[in-house]
Amino acid sequence: MLFSDLKLAPAILRALETEGYTTPTPIQGEAIPVLLEGRDLMGCAQTGTGKTAAFCLPLLHHLAATAGKQHGKAPKALVLAPTRELAQQIADSLSAYGRHTGLYHTVVYGGVNQRPQVAKLRQGVDILVATPGRLLDLHQQGVVNLGEVRHLVLDEADRMLDMGFLPDIRRILKLMPTQRQTLLFSATISKEIKALAETLLQNPVEITVAPQVQTTKLIQQSLYFVDKEQKRDLLKHLLETEGIARALVFVKTKYGADRVAKALTANGVPAQAIHGDKSQGARQQALNQFKAHRTRVLVATDVAARGIDVDDLTHVFNFDLPMEPETYVHRIGRTGRAGASGVAISFCDADERNLLRAVQKQIDQEVPLVTDHPYALNLSPVTLVQTFESSKGKNGFSRKPKSSSYGRKPYGPKPGGNGSYGGPRKRYARSDA
Ligand code: AMP
Repeated sequence: MLFSDLKLAPAILRALETEGYTTPTPIQGEAIPVLLEGRDLMGCAQTGTGKTAAFCLPLLHHLAATAGKQHGKAPKALVLAPTRELAQQIADSLSAYGRHTGLYHTVVYGGVNQRPQVAKLRQGVDILVATPGRLLDLHQQGVVNLGEVRHLVLDEADRMLDMGFLPDIRRILKLMPTQRQTLLFSATISKEIKALAETLLQNPVEITVAPQVQTTKLIQQSLYFVDKEQKRDLLKHLLETEGIARALVFVKTKYGADRVAKALTANGVPAQAIHGDKSQGARQQALNQFKAHRTRVLVATDVAARGIDVDDLTHVFNFDLPMEPETYVHRIGRTGRAGASGVAISFCDADERNLLRAVQKQIDQEVPLVTDHPYALNLSPVTLVQTFESSKGKNGFSRKPKSSSYGRKPYGPKPGGNGSYGGPRKRYARSDA
């Protein structure tokens, strides 16, 4: 299937041509036709699947039909997103895909001066992208009218609930007409998400795209056992010896992010940290410099990194393993986008072995262990197969292990195999040896 088969407005197809998109991703192929029919949608999909275009293109299509003929300045479509970065990224996508439609959009989020946002709203917009808090603020000030919204999108709804936005979302819903098309996207479908969907969506089409771990076959994963105190040295060593031009490094805490960025910069590797304590301006600047290849390393916490979309990112480091195993999949999905290859390197110290176990269970795969590096820590491997001790049931009888990696081929190309990733050939230890 091609985009040209999708009956999108010619102005949108032209913009897609400029973007170099020819083939819809699976979620786009499934969602766009039903959204063009005006159906509600419940989409289970993560970043990296092309979900942004999956909802932006039909939105633009619906509104383009009436562009220029609309009266009033109130937005006709609202996209809610949990973070400033994601909101900005959606607005950037609307700029790209909607460049020939004559439609106006703007983005509002907290943490920055509201004056420019207010000025844009006063001029009138067709599509408004917003984080919930700032939107309510502006509504209370009488700056925005949601009474004409006919299309509503909730993006990363699970994240919005995690961040405590549910009461704000409920308040926002009361401000808009009930006659509308509603789309809800979430990476995970919990009981809370289901409950929210039931109150919001009418006879929705449900679309689930395969978890990213299956769509990221091109990501080469590797694991390094290392002492907590030597992680920074190992990171610097790998950046130097592996010829890594640019990397996104995930750390657990804001403080840790600052420490890693400072240490790298002090050692001649230009790095910047991005986390919730930094002002919006500082975060955007760090991101812009990274995108422009002026900063080699961006060190980020998970919340700050949500919504960061950097084209041609080749390397992701898990400096600290994530507390939630699903986060691992989100993190490594930042590389290997849209069919490109990528490398995901994870560090694991002695205290993180349980987190590693959870990650491996999540992806149903053992991450190949690299042992020949100067900071190698001698830990016993973490295997997918449960040991006799840990597989004992309550009454002392052993249970069959739930899954085993024996005989299963690891995802991703063989390390050093086809040369597509460059870098020296490494010795990989079998972690189930
Ligand atoms: P998303 O999941 O919306 O964050 O999109 C992931 C990345 O894929 C973004 O960098 C998009 O620009 C890119 N992308 C989205 N759809 C397509 C497509 N059909 N062809 C090529 N790249 C795409």
